[in-house]
Amino acid sequence: MTIPFDILLLGPPGAGKGTQGILLSARLRLPKFATGDLLRDAVARGTPLGLQARAVMESGALVSDEIILGIVREELGKPAAAAGVILDGVVRTVPQAEGVAGLLAGRGRKISHIVFLDVTDEEILGRIEKRRTTESRADDAPDSVVRRLRAYREQTAPVLAWYEARGAVHRIAGTGTVEDIAERIRAALGR
Ligand code: ADP
Repeated sequence: MTIPFDILLLGPPGAGKGTQGILLSARLRLPKFATGDLLRDAVARGTPLGLQARAVMESGALVSDEIILGIVREELGKPAAAAGVILDGVVRTVPQAEGVAGLLAGRGRKISHIVFLDVTDEEILGRIEKRRTTESRADDAPDSVVRRLRAYREQTAPVLAWYEARGAVHRIAGTGTVEDIAERIRAALGR
């Protein structure tokens, strides 16, 4: 059996994790999942998880580590995840980083590559404002965006330091064309 190839995408909201995750998923033929997308889907379907997460998400705060780790456990358990997965925006707190490491270790796995997409706050605000006019996400409202950036700085930025203390993190400049960024990631991963 080949070693599973697990990739974690990190970066502020609006950094382009979703866009690059889709491209990586197609290129490497690995499934990708984003906790943000799975939660939004649960909200849209009105499932118990969605009912629990809705208000928290709309406010721009983070949903509980327990909920997130439950989602990750389920996704990692799917047969399609056996050869590796792309985790998009899945780890946003240090306890989640620890929890995900534990869930992977339980399967004899560990993250193969950590990709941090680096973009400035100014760029992020511009991108989210643009997305708000095309996607109408409740959490792209200006107040929520401010809270999401604050949650990122206070709870997610320490995650980068946590991973850097444990191994290499690929820091990728997140500006330029989508293709430029995809090429930087390909070069960093070596595949
Ligand atoms: P963004 O990264 O642009 O904030 P996402 O679509 O990735 O948007 O996530 C939307 C919302 O879903 C977050 O603001 C948060 O409330 C919730 N969420 C997603 N992933 C996590 C996570 N790992 N931990 C806590 N909350 C999360």
